[in-house]
Amino acid sequence: MTELLTGIVYDPVFLKHDQTGHPETAKRLESIITGLKEKDLFEKVVKIESRQAVTDEITLCHSKDYVGYVKEYCENGGGFLDPDTYSNKYSYSAAATAVGSSVDLTKAVIKKELKNGFALLRPPGHHALSNRSMGFCLFGNIAIAAKVALTQPGINKVAIVDFDVHHGNGTQVLVGDDPNVLFISTHQYPYYPGTGSISEMGRGDAEGTIVNIPLPAGVGDDGFQKVYEYVIIPSLEKFSPDLILVSAGYDAHWDDPLASLNLSLTGYNWISRELIKTAKRVCDGRIVFFLEGGYNLQVLSNGVANTIRGLLGIDLFEDPLGKSHQLEPVVKNLINELIKIYNL
Ligand SMILES: [Zn+2]
Repeated sequence: MTELLTGIVYDPVFLKHDQTGHPETAKRLESIITGLKEKDLFEKVVKIESRQAVTDEITLCHSKDYVGYVKEYCENGGGFLDPDTYSNKYSYSAAATAVGSSVDLTKAVIKKELKNGFALLRPPGHHALSNRSMGFCLFGNIAIAAKVALTQPGINKVAIVDFDVHHGNGTQVLVGDDPNVLFISTHQYPYYPGTGSISEMGRGDAEGTIVNIPLPAGVGDDGFQKVYEYVIIPSLEKFSPDLILVSAGYDAHWDDPLASLNLSLTGYNWISRELIKTAKRVCDGRIVFFLEGGYNLQVLSNGVANTIRGLLGIDLFEDPLGKSHQLEPVVKNLINELIKIYNL
């Protein structure tokens, strides 16, 4: 039996979606690719052939009117789609390529053509709503991939874990009513976009399939470790998904310019490896990471490289920035409340 490989999504069109002075810049992805090449990781992963999603794929999560509007708006040169979200004439192509290629990567992992994967895409997706752009996001890449995954043989349940510092409000809305999708988010709270309280648990049949873990500013490696050990990993084991997708944002790092959680690269590495190990236990190793935020370029390039090493099964990781020196707030009460609510 040939050994399965780790796949990535990457396309130069992602760099053409760019705006000078904006934190969600093409330099983010350039620094990731440069880092992978410098660390001799780029040649160890399979680059899947990229393609633009067709409208019918994007409309699994977005209205036809919205998709048409974004396409036309960008083709006419673009502009601000919401106060935070820019676009230019390449943005529709970039966003549609992000969707199409990450869907193909996910399918390849499901079909066991690849061991696992990381979609190195831009623009990110976890804030996008069904009929509007939000928070640097045009289309809900991970939500669409989850919907497509559920149409594939052998995939009856999908879990999405979101460790970006911001609540994945878009993903929560786009998959929240589906009882076959578990959505778990850790995020700084209260903070942008304002959603993600513990009481948002899913409605009707889907009640209990949303697990929000709102963290006060300052939580770092210790708090995250406890949250994963006592809430996230038990939730994944209980739900027993056939596939795990991860919204991978590296903006919960202590040196990120946009937010105030205090993970280190060592903490991020631990989280990624726990998720990879959990996937091995519950779903035959099927796991795909999707790039979301992260605005310190050194953190981003090292964080993604460490995650890709984890996917490849390489023990080494690097943390040139070290740990935060701030004391962490205690999250014991929050964990106890979550254990009680979700019966863990
Ligand atoms: Zn973010």
